[in-house]
Amino acid sequence: MSAEGTFSGGIDLKIDLQARGVRIPDGLRSRVGGAGPADGITIFLDGVPASVPSGAWYACRSPYEIRHSGESWELLLDGVGVCGLDVAGEPEYYREATPDSIPYYKVALRHGRDGIGSTVVQGCAHGDDSCRFCAIAVSAGSGETVPRKSPEDLARVAAAARLEGYSHLVLTTGTTPGEDRGIEPLLRCAAAVKGAADMKMHVQFEPPGDLEYIDRVAEVADSVAINIESFDREVLTVMAPGKAATGLSRYRQAWERSVEALGEGHVTSFIIIGLGESEESVLEGCRLLTSMGVYPFLLPLRPLAGTPLEAWSPPGAEEMKGMYEKAAAIVAGSGLHASTCDSGCVYCGACTAFTDITG
Ligand code: SF4
Repeated sequence: MSAEGTFSGGIDLKIDLQARGVRIPDGLRSRVGGAGPADGITIFLDGVPASVPSGAWYACRSPYEIRHSGESWELLLDGVGVCGLDVAGEPEYYREATPDSIPYYKVALRHGRDGIGSTVVQGCAHGDDSCRFCAIAVSAGSGETVPRKSPEDLARVAAAARLEGYSHLVLTTGTTPGEDRGIEPLLRCAAAVKGAADMKMHVQFEPPGDLEYIDRVAEVADSVAINIESFDREVLTVMAPGKAATGLSRYRQAWERSVEALGEGHVTSFIIIGLGESEESVLEGCRLLTSMGVYPFLLPLRPLAGTPLEAWSPPGAEEMKGMYEKAAAIVAGSGLHASTCDSGCVYCGACTAFTDITG
């Protein structure tokens, strides 16, 4: 970050776009519900992927707009051209379907530059204690996905995506009952994909009751995410009661076991900025994670339609810049880099500018 309080290149612009969203023309597809880049569009600013909100109320009022300009795309701010950009196209595999006539896009969606992602179980055992910011239930009711992905279908889709050059798969899941917390279905899907496509594998899950599940994940995964979402205890209790009930010590054990199995820099935890957490809680969380070899994946809250937070706004760009700067100093001091990771969200970085800063 420079003395003037700006990051270099297009990072400032990416931060501002993720804070304010963007208006998009009819015909550009904005994902509804789901995990990660939900309610958004993926664009490339000087080749850097950015997932930008485009479906939420604040995005519809954004001063930013994407317009077609001849054969290319242009970003405007208050009607004035800012720069050219690329828009992530729909993969060819979206046109294919499984033997049961499930369109491939309902099994796995494009993520960022060269990833695909799938939510294996589209439901959450936390029920009333589920995360207030999560749109898994919205996706389940949208008709845009299937409630449970089969290993066979995921293997088919991954093989087709690999032929198009997609290099990594993000497998996540709603939490399931039982001590595996959803890891068993993830493992079945991961194993099927490994047998069908030469793809890097990133798996996201909650701390399981038995840590040996993590060793099994490490046999098929190249990286993992165990996302606590917030280190502010009061905020976590309100925003993610199920995770708060699991408790920080259980997360610490899971992160530790994952680093033992996969190595430093290949384990991450999301830290969402904008839930009302204290700054010190974020920085304390970064210190804890980096001391364990876990990359702290800071990202702005993306309030999603259909969730309890749908009327909220993302944090402002200045708030995000300040947080990124302080957290990046902690990451730099630890020797961790986003570029260490070859799969998943840390490798992709479309949903945050933090990975661009800590590259
Ligand atoms: S950062 Fe993660 S959730 Fe976001 S687009 Fe990339 S892989 Fe998907």
